[in-house]
Amino acid sequence: MITNAYLLEVMENVKKRNQGEPEFHQAVAEVLESLEPVVEKYPEFIEKGVIDSIVEPERIIKFRVPWVDDSGKVQINRGFRVQFNSAIGPYKGGLRFHPSVNEGIIKFLGFEQTFKNSLTTLPIGGGKGGSDFDPKGKSDGEVMRFCQSFMTELQKYIGADTDVPAGDIGVGAREIGYLFGQYKRLRDEYTGVLTGKGLTYGGSLARKEATGYGLCYFTEEMLKDSGTSFAGKTVVVSGSGNVAIYATEKATTLGAKVVAMSDSNGYIYDKNGIDLAAVKAIKEGRRGRIKEYLDVHPEAEYHEGCSGIWTVKCDIALPCATQNEINGESAKALVANGVMAVAEGANMPSTPDAIHTFQQAGILFGPAKAANAGGVATSALEMSQNSMRLSWSFEEVDEKLHGIMINIYKSASAAAEEFGMKGNLVAGANIAGFLKVARSMLAYGVC
Ligand code: NDP
Repeated sequence: MITNAYLLEVMENVKKRNQGEPEFHQAVAEVLESLEPVVEKYPEFIEKGVIDSIVEPERIIKFRVPWVDDSGKVQINRGFRVQFNSAIGPYKGGLRFHPSVNEGIIKFLGFEQTFKNSLTTLPIGGGKGGSDFDPKGKSDGEVMRFCQSFMTELQKYIGADTDVPAGDIGVGAREIGYLFGQYKRLRDEYTGVLTGKGLTYGGSLARKEATGYGLCYFTEEMLKDSGTSFAGKTVVVSGSGNVAIYATEKATTLGAKVVAMSDSNGYIYDKNGIDLAAVKAIKEGRRGRIKEYLDVHPEAEYHEGCSGIWTVKCDIALPCATQNEINGESAKALVANGVMAVAEGANMPSTPDAIHTFQQAGILFGPAKAANAGGVATSALEMSQNSMRLSWSFEEVDEKLHGIMINIYKSASAAAEEFGMKGNLVAGANIAGFLKVARSMLAYGVC
């Protein structure tokens, strides 16, 4: 809970000026709460208006995306790009294509991204974008026409040194290909304006794996500090998209057994350990549903509804699907079943209630800003390779990613301790991410 009078006033203003955007309010409230000891120690962040500025996006772009479906009917979607903060580098953050997308969701993601990007120590500002377009059930031709129309407008506002989007929910290699192709065609330039590109046209090795692998590197570091590791642990991973698949792969390599995964319809439980090749064939291969896993493994179980996955007994939970997927009740179920660590692969997957439950129970908790920063960190490595016109090997990128995740853990942990909240990585990540951005903003004066 925020108690500082000034921060309370900032929070009230955020609510007033951004009505009907509960996810954005939730993200801001969590950061402001963490900043209480920081503004006491450094009152200049209040005096010079940094706190008021940091909760206001630098720019919001909102546009119509017209496209023609396979039956010849005109469809209209809405596109967004929130350029939240460029204090430490060009705006950087993914594009999400999902029917739930609205301005508030993109604002919450852009706000979070600002601190996450700062934590990576790389020179990238915070941004996020997307559309309420649903790629699910669309033909490749429809997705291509949508992406081309989306980029026809977005290209006016982005650039390799201005704003570099990437993928997120519903935006994978196929969509990035269509988006990059259209940018290149309209602007007649071949620059690293998007990350997550295919390997034949400027993508980085290990980018696809980076968020999931990075999540496990972070979690391993957190476990190590408590004298344990992934080895021999039972793990539950929600989702079955990009982050979930590569989190499952790395957790398994590190000696754990992943027993459950999900999609937005339901979850599978395989007591023998998830056969990831089967999941990849369903999800990456033919864009199918997770319940098709039972066609290959009839001995596994499928349950309708995705929140039930949190009732599966496990040592480690890795939520990798979407925001607010673990509420207070699910958190209590995890704790009652003896979970020892929760690390967030998705953005803001735990509600404030859930985080409170984990912290009260003394569960190791790795917040998204820190734990899933490996994706954007590797995107920044893709930008470096593009600028140098060079490609690094898989091992080289993976090693850099591993080093970055260890450093993120250490800086979040150190900041928590410095400000009297030892072990609270939520506060530590918020503070460590904030300080670099805030000091840069102070240096620029009012702007
Ligand atoms: P994908 O689109 O590849 O996969 C999303 C997965 O989550 C799918 O399995 C999807 O199921 C499932 N899902 C979506 N909505 C829900 C829901 N309401 N309930 C249960 N499951 C749901 O996205 P990503 O893996 O890229 O992203 C997942 C999360 O990770 C997001 O929060 C994203 O912001 C975050 N993230 C992603 C990064 C990246 O590099 N890709 C980087 C950092 C964070 P279905 O197929 O049924 O929709």
